[in-house]
Amino acid sequence: MAVFGSGPRQGAMFEKILIANRGEIALRIQRACRELGIKTVAVHSEADADAKYVMLADESVCIGPPPSKDSYLNIPAIISAAEVTDAQAIHPGYGFLSENADFAERVENSGFVFIGPRPDNIRTMGDKVAAKAAMKKVGIPCVPGSDGALPDDPKEIRKIAAAVGYPVIIKAAGGGGGRGMRVVHTEAALVNAVQMTRTEAQSAFGNPMVYLEKFLENPRHIEIQVLADEHRNALFLWERDCSMQRRHQKIIEEAPAPELKARLRDRIGERCAEACVKLGYRGAGTFEFLYEKDEFYFIEMNTRVQVEHPVSEMITGIDIVQEQVRIAAGQKLRYRQKDIQLRGHAIECRINAENPVSFVPSPGRITRFHVPGGPGIRVDSHVYADYFVPPYYDSLIAKVIAHGDTREQAFARMRTALSEMVVEGIQTNLPLHQELMNDAAFIRGGTSIHFLEERMAKLKKIAGEAD
Ligand code: ADP
Repeated sequence: MAVFGSGPRQGAMFEKILIANRGEIALRIQRACRELGIKTVAVHSEADADAKYVMLADESVCIGPPPSKDSYLNIPAIISAAEVTDAQAIHPGYGFLSENADFAERVENSGFVFIGPRPDNIRTMGDKVAAKAAMKKVGIPCVPGSDGALPDDPKEIRKIAAAVGYPVIIKAAGGGGGRGMRVVHTEAALVNAVQMTRTEAQSAFGNPMVYLEKFLENPRHIEIQVLADEHRNALFLWERDCSMQRRHQKIIEEAPAPELKARLRDRIGERCAEACVKLGYRGAGTFEFLYEKDEFYFIEMNTRVQVEHPVSEMITGIDIVQEQVRIAAGQKLRYRQKDIQLRGHAIECRINAENPVSFVPSPGRITRFHVPGGPGIRVDSHVYADYFVPPYYDSLIAKVIAHGDTREQAFARMRTALSEMVVEGIQTNLPLHQELMNDAAFIRGGTSIHFLEERMAKLKKIAGEAD
């Protein structure tokens, strides 16, 4: 029985970590652990039994059948896997149980260390109404909107919306993954939209609470990566621009954000680091903002490692996953803000197993797979030729990351990398990435969160006219 969580943990490094995730992030965490001399336990569903990273782990435990709810979301199975393998800590990765406060609590109560923030911080940030209130208190600028959850009285709702000004967006307090949001342009549509969002929120998230925000017409999505330890030290690793989205899902991310004034970048970064100290936050985290006309507006905080963390690693030289592990072991941050140098520019393309036009997932067997290489290229991927992409999970099969001294060089390297990459047997969004990397507006920089959908709508119209 592991006693690490309750025993002394001031800085002694773990000997064995269980990775409660799958796919590229499971491999990424495994690599970070290996470099630190830590043994790893891979847990996997029956669908992932043959995965390369499962074979590469020091030990592996099957935790259930393919559906996530029976395996990667199966808390008792994961905790017993940690018990039988004598792991000391659990890394949740992203998605699955990574932002589940009850899981973090169960992990700690079972005597293991949860590699992430304290459960109460996860809980607050998981409720967007509570998160916004907490952020306001620590001086983080938020999108103007309702003060907390919307009341039931239609008259009151109308009054709040009128004060904020149309258009507004109705959002579910328990929402996530781009779901549970509705834009309203007129008062006539307001009350009905609130009702519909409430009903959806209840069935999707088990929480009918909704709130209202000003709908920003042309913002960019800019987020700040932070690291904080248990000893009241916190710093920021600059920002990422993740405006290239479809249905609120990111597909390309870059760091730093193009055309962002250094003064604004420093100010928001410092505020986020200070907020971590005030909140008693520990671990890696991301403050997500919408950015419009030189102003930042907080939308949510992610209390885990992000898919797009590599671009921040490339421009700072800091291994975010290793820092998560060190922080969880109780160690002090090894850097101060002044040590964090911004080095060049990095961009990441998420390669998904999906149709590049319809975005319908395309699981199946990969018959040929060649990854790009050369200076400044990093590929985070768990797949290989003859790998079977299971239909049960996220369609992300690889992240191609390009780093260069300048944005131009990073883009040029990415274009070469994408042209070298070969994935056959399934469909991928590689052609879409190739197009976007040659798009004049994107190359200029500073495109908004609506850019990709507007561009696709335009293409559809042209195709329609040609018919
Ligand atoms: P989720 O947790 O579901 O990802 P977020 O609150 O982070 O939800 O919002 C996801 C995306 O929705 C943002 O990146 C942005 O594209 C859009 N969005 C959210 N709030 C607003 C707003 N007030 N105005 C305009 N767009 C918004």
